[in-house]
Amino acid sequence: MESRREDAHQRSAEVAVIGAGVAGLAAAHVLRDHALQVILYEREERVGGRATTRVRAGFCFDPGAQYIHGNAPASDALLLQRFATSELVAIAKPVWTFDSQNRIREGDRRQNALPRWTYRYGLLTLGELMARELTVYTHCEIARLAYLRPGWRLFSTSDQAVAEVPNVLVTLPAPEAAALIAASELPSELQQALLAELGKVHYRPLLSVALAWPRSALPPTPYYALVNSDKAHPISWLAREEEKSPERVPPAWTLLIVQLAPDYSRAHWSWDNQALATATTTLVSTLLGQRLPAADFYDVQRWPLALPEPGTLLEAEALHRVSAPYGLFFSGDAFTGGRVHLALAQGKESAFRLLASRR
Ligand SMILES: Cc1cc2nc3c(=O)[nH]c(=O)nc-3n(C[C@H](O)[C@H](O)[C@H](O)COP(=O)(O)OP(=O)(O)OC[C@H]3O[C@@H](n4cnc5c(N)ncnc54)[C@H](O)[C@@H]3O)c2cc1C
Repeated sequence: MESRREDAHQRSAEVAVIGAGVAGLAAAHVLRDHALQVILYEREERVGGRATTRVRAGFCFDPGAQYIHGNAPASDALLLQRFATSELVAIAKPVWTFDSQNRIREGDRRQNALPRWTYRYGLLTLGELMARELTVYTHCEIARLAYLRPGWRLFSTSDQAVAEVPNVLVTLPAPEAAALIAASELPSELQQALLAELGKVHYRPLLSVALAWPRSALPPTPYYALVNSDKAHPISWLAREEEKSPERVPPAWTLLIVQLAPDYSRAHWSWDNQALATATTTLVSTLLGQRLPAADFYDVQRWPLALPEPGTLLEAEALHRVSAPYGLFFSGDAFTGGRVHLALAQGKESAFRLLASRR
């Protein structure tokens, strides 16, 4: 990856992709395959977006996306062929379920028969593999766009013009895309139409808490993860990182990723990390039916825009009918639902829309 921090030089390319999550990266590869010059702008230090990995105190864990669904043609082609690596692993143990009464049951056999992919050292590996041959400016948040009739100028948060390009592909969660469009200079009828569409999508917040103990504190389980089946428990998901791959934790340790349900997350958003770790340990103890001591290590990730509400998704065709004549395109999980394999497919699809509009 040609990865750089924002600098004072304006860059020119045929397409600027805003956001280097999996949708932006997948789109960039399609555009590059069609000989277009592409630059990606990423707000964070790393690519991958919500499919990310943290390395702390000798633990390696995924606070966002947990696994990638197998048996999906668009993402299988990327994972198993184009970006094939021996680091890709299918999680061996199944997912079981639990309900609001803390009753744990065997999971859906058909679902558990499908491969669930991850990477030995975390899902960030996918983003890093995909970014290798691309030009990505990290630490570069795009704050606004200005329409040049035709083309676009992109401005960073320090109001520096960082690029002038004929086409822009925005791959942010819809509320962030809406904020970008609201701050931008573009024909007001286009701006109003885009804001009306983007405003339809609602994202749920989610607190993700990592908790680690010596393995003796938690006996082996027949599952690698538990999912709440009745959506009425404060915990929505719980996974053991060492069951994804043993290399993720030091020998004889266990690390749980606990995702808290949207209502619980909202109500506890402002709690400090230690209080969240303590409250989550109590919830996990009750769920698993055993008293766990205070965790030896904990970490909290706050996702204000974790997953789009299924009933509020965008219709790609309608949005692009409005924006494509201006060289403006959108992608990401706001069109598909919060899944890595769907965001990858959506990234590719949006790139083909952009290519088609140039003919
Ligand atoms: C807690 C959690 C659990 C999940 N579990 C799963 C799972 O188990 N399986 C699964 O398949 N999916 C899961 N998902 C969903 C999955 O992670 C997402 O659907 C997918 O990663 C979305 O990719 P994307 O590229 O559309 O968006 P993102 O990953 O959000 O990428 C957008 C990128 O844009 C960057 N950005 C934002 N604003 C700007 C700006 N102004 N300028 C420049 N860059 C900007 C962001 O930093 C980010 O890197 C989960 C998500 C979360 C949060």
